[in-house]
Amino acid sequence: MSRHGELSFTGPATFFKAPLLDPGSGQGGHDVACLGVPYDFAVGYRPGARFAPAAVRAASGRLAWPEEGLYDLASDRRRLAGLGLVDLGDVDPLQLDAEATFARITAAARAARKTARLPVFVGGDHSISFPLLQAFDDEHDLHVVQFDAHLDFSDARNGTRLSNSSPFRRAFETSDGLTGRTVVGLRGMRADEEAVAASRELGHRLIRADEVHDSLAEVLARLPRGRRVYVSFDVDCLDPAELPGTSSPEPGGLSFRQLEVLLGAVIEHNELLGLDLTELAPGLDPSGRSELLAARVLAESLAAWWDTAGHR
Ligand code: MN
Ligand code: MN
Repeated sequence: MSRHGELSFTGPATFFKAPLLDPGSGQGGHDVACLGVPYDFAVGYRPGARFAPAAVRAASGRLAWPEEGLYDLASDRRRLAGLGLVDLGDVDPLQLDAEATFARITAAARAARKTARLPVFVGGDHSISFPLLQAFDDEHDLHVVQFDAHLDFSDARNGTRLSNSSPFRRAFETSDGLTGRTVVGLRGMRADEEAVAASRELGHRLIRADEVHDSLAEVLARLPRGRRVYVSFDVDCLDPAELPGTSSPEPGGLSFRQLEVLLGAVIEHNELLGLDLTELAPGLDPSGRSELLAARVLAESLAAWWDTAGHR
C-alpha cells in the first residue's frame, strides 16, 4: 500500500493511508475498497454523521499497515499483511433530494463491488444502508447482521419512509434476496412496537444488549453460520461511555471487547460480502476518541476477514 508518510498525521488523509482510486476507472481486482457516504439528512436527532468519512480517514492513519502487516500482541503474529486497500473517495449527496442521493449511493456501491472483493462503506446516517443493500440485489440468499441499539425497522417516521429509522424495512420490502437478519445490541425505552412485531414476523433474530452482558457465549451461539452476510455496524451499538460521538446514544451498550468478539465470530463463520459503518458524528465528541474507535473496529473487521476469507 502507498504510505504517504510514516507518521499517522501526514496527509493527504485517506482510509488507512490507502491510494485514492477514481471509482470510474473501471479498475478491479483489489481486495478491499472503502467508499465514504457523507449523508446525514435523514437523522431524527443530532446531525453530524456527514463528517464521519473525513474523521475516520484522519483517525485511520494511525492503523495504516505496511506490506508486512501489523504485529498483533494477542495472536503473536502479523495481521493484515499483504491486504490491498483502495479509497474510492466520497459519494456526492444531493442535499435535499433523498431519492436522487440514494440512487447515487447505489450506483457508487455497485462500482465498489466491481472494484474489490470486499466493499466497505463509511457513512453517513443509517438511512444509507437501504441504498447500499440495493447494490446487492443480484444476491439470492443474503443475511444482514446489524449491530445497533435500534431496530431501524419503522414503517415511517414523521411522515417520511426514508429516514434512519427505516432502512431495513425498506430493504426487506424491496429485495427478495434478503433472507434473514440478526440484530445485536438492542436497548432503550422508546422502541417501535409495530416495527418489533413486523421484524419478528419475518423471523429476524433480535438480541438485546442485556443478553450480551448476561452471556456472551449464549449470544455467540445464536449468530448465523455458513451464510453470505452483509454487516451493518451502527456505532451506537457501543456504549456511549466508549463512543459518545453519535446521534442517538443509549446507555447500557456493548463494550469494544464484546463487539470485537461478536464481529470476529460473524466474519469467521460466514462469507462477508459487504460492510457499512454508520451514525458516527465526530463533532459530538471533542475528545476524538469516537473516530479512533470506529477506525479500530474497521481495522479489526478487515483483519478478521483477511484471516479467514482473504486467502481462500
Ligand atoms: Mn441504526
Ligand atoms: Mn442506532
